[in-house]
Amino acid sequence: MVDIEINPYLKLFQKQKNRQLKIGSTNYKYRIDQLNKLQFAIEKTYRKQIIEALQKDLGKPKVESELTEIYQIVGEIKHAKKYLHKWMRQQKVKTPMAMIGSSSYYLHEPKGVCLIISPWNFPFNLTFGPLVSALAAGNNIIVKPSEMTPHSSALMKTIVDDLFDETEVALVEGEVEASTQLLELPFNHIFFTGSPNVGKIVMTAAAKHLASVTLELGGKSPTIVDKSANLDKAAKKIIWGKFMNAGQICVSPDYVLIDEGIKSKFVEACKKWITYYFSSAPKSSSSYGRIVSSKHFERLKSYIANAEDLGAKIEVGGETEASTQFIAPILISNLSEESTLLNQEIFGPILPIVTYNSLEEAIAYINAKERPLALYIYSKTRSTIQHIIKKTKAGGTCINNNVVHYTNHNLPFGGVNNSGIGKSHGVYGFKAFSNQRAIVKQYTFGINELLFPPYSRFKEKLAKVTVKWF
Ligand code: NAD
Repeated sequence: MVDIEINPYLKLFQKQKNRQLKIGSTNYKYRIDQLNKLQFAIEKTYRKQIIEALQKDLGKPKVESELTEIYQIVGEIKHAKKYLHKWMRQQKVKTPMAMIGSSSYYLHEPKGVCLIISPWNFPFNLTFGPLVSALAAGNNIIVKPSEMTPHSSALMKTIVDDLFDETEVALVEGEVEASTQLLELPFNHIFFTGSPNVGKIVMTAAAKHLASVTLELGGKSPTIVDKSANLDKAAKKIIWGKFMNAGQICVSPDYVLIDEGIKSKFVEACKKWITYYFSSAPKSSSSYGRIVSSKHFERLKSYIANAEDLGAKIEVGGETEASTQFIAPILISNLSEESTLLNQEIFGPILPIVTYNSLEEAIAYINAKERPLALYIYSKTRSTIQHIIKKTKAGGTCINNNVVHYTNHNLPFGGVNNSGIGKSHGVYGFKAFSNQRAIVKQYTFGINELLFPPYSRFKEKLAKVTVKWF
């Protein structure tokens, strides 16, 4: 048992637990009202403040805040509102012959008291996105956003306090210690978005109570560019996907694997698009963000220094400014396999270019690393695309594009093994926060009753008939 003197969140947890059955039995209309409240707050009441907070925390350009935060949450809400009635309905399934006399269905019941722990790179989207699914499914929820984006977290606290009773949704601000204390509590489900290393800590804590988990993690997402690809179009998309939010995106292309013969042409195309998007002086571009903290700024600088020490060549960019946590978009090549840039998730505006001589070499390179959250393919050759998909594993893939699979609420979003466990968005998020409860209703004599004890030669024969025919 957790000692209330030691754990400051036990009281809040118990209050939510006490209301769990009530919240869990809320109807469609109630849940729609909750979603409408949240939508109005994001779209109207707090929209301006959200954009300001993101500007302060991440230097996030307004258009990016609109598209990657507000649009994503509102989209998730609209999608949930459109389908919630269907999701909440009993789902009838077939009943086998051997069970004649009964009918079967399952329903989605809320898991109960859930914990959402979120990261800093898209603070609103990655906190309120899962919250939409949890509310739609009828749960009580405690939310713990990241301490790295204090303006955003403080505003989210204001929004949650304004909209919800704490026995239904509560937001707890705090650093790692707050997370650790929350993780001691016997939540019914934990939805964590963050790094694979912390994901392991979360899963270990969940195991203590056998809480189910959804882990939305990260890692190194490769991008393959083959000889047949339209290099200019590929560069246009890769540079957009990589340098949005200054590269601090879980699904950004972590590194490019490119056919040796087309590397220099590709680098030229990338240079062109970097200049087009952010001008030749990205520091004064209003379309380019900043690194979230001095710790991450120093981390990224050390990756660059390490790569250069090992003989890498900076193809473009590299200007930095510690006081504003600015790092200009960097393309880097000739990397040693030992370099940190090729072994750790980068999560910043540095794009390594790695060359290959054969497609099989590229596939083997990817498969030697952890299974990625995303894998992107730029190619015009159908057989090559199919071959890469068949021979690799990834949470998601875009063909001749990147990042955008995240925005389709009809698709499951999530990783595989090191990049995540479980899926989110749309019905997949609703399912993550629901228990699929199987129900069999006996409405008349069940044929299986003929096989109840005491057993006889006749029942033995009947059992054989059942195995063979039913
Ligand atoms: P993080 O794992 O450091 O932190 C995430 C959350 O966990 C924060 O709220 C933090 O307070 C908490 N936390 C940190 N250390 C903890 C500990 N020891 N015990 C308990 N809680 C702890 O991740 P981050 O730096 O905020 O985000 C970057 C990582 O998240 C990257 O790996 C990125 O790929 C991943 N990410 C994944 C997705 C996705 O949807 N799959 C989205 C965004 C980010």
